[in-house]
Amino acid sequence: MSSHRVNRREFLTLLAGSIAVPAKPFDTPLIVKLAPDGPFDSPLIVRLAQDGPFDSPLILSLSKDEPLAQDRPLPPVSWTCPMHPEVVDDRSGACPICRMPLTPVRLELVWSCQLHLDVTEPQPGACRTCGRKLVKIIKALSFTCPSHARVNEINPGKCPIDRRTLVAKYSLRPHGDHNPKHGGNFIMAPNNWHVEATHPAPSQFRLYVYDEYSRPFIPKGFASRIVMGEKSIPFKPAAGGMFLDARVPQIALPAAIVVGARFEDKQPEYRFDFQFYGYSKEPK
Ligand SMILES: [Zn+2]
Ligand SMILES: [Zn+2]
Ligand SMILES: [Zn+2]
Ligand SMILES: [Zn+2]
Repeated sequence: MSSHRVNRREFLTLLAGSIAVPAKPFDTPLIVKLAPDGPFDSPLIVRLAQDGPFDSPLILSLSKDEPLAQDRPLPPVSWTCPMHPEVVDDRSGACPICRMPLTPVRLELVWSCQLHLDVTEPQPGACRTCGRKLVKIIKALSFTCPSHARVNEINPGKCPIDRRTLVAKYSLRPHGDHNPKHGGNFIMAPNNWHVEATHPAPSQFRLYVYDEYSRPFIPKGFASRIVMGEKSIPFKPAAGGMFLDARVPQIALPAAIVVGARFEDKQPEYRFDFQFYGYSKEPK
């Protein structure tokens, strides 16, 4: 692990297009992944400085991206809250949000298919099922018995029931996948859900909504719009699609839009900035 000190504004610039810092207590640790073409193509454990001003320094701990191999050391044990999976610490202790004791987890950066999330590969490549290019996601590594699925250990070893050798198991993690799924910009919202906006063609914008596991859905009561000064253009559900559509006539590249989204009735409207330097293309 190495530490890098950057200020929040640099941090947000680094993360542009990948993730936004949630409007949460700033002492909440987060796991974030930088944009694939960013300077550090590796997961970061980020601990934001306490309640500081926007430009106050924060410390990034860079963990190295190592390939999976039999002889490779296990990923380190991290500590997470059963109720707040976005909380990840490298020490045991209490959850800063709910004070529950943190539980151990091994987080590993692996390659997976966004259409087949059960795929776990140690290297980049194509999905064996659909041929789509694999993306990096964070999964939890644990060890289970081939005949006792309820056995779930943090360390390799033997099954306590029948002494069979435990096998590795990878589970999805909330916030383990912040890759855009439709060639757009993917942002984490303050309520821990996610939005992705795309600009597939002139004057056309699409909005996708994902839950904390980055599974697509459109929450009941979801309302969103493109905010343009005093005016706003509503997003409308696309016919037969799991996304919403809005048209902005006469907008040229590079295009910058502000999206206002209310996920549920009781929540405030969150604002998201999106920039497009070209038209979005679906990944293949
Ligand atoms: Zn908690
Ligand atoms: Zn696939
Ligand atoms: Zn067993
Ligand atoms: Zn997330």
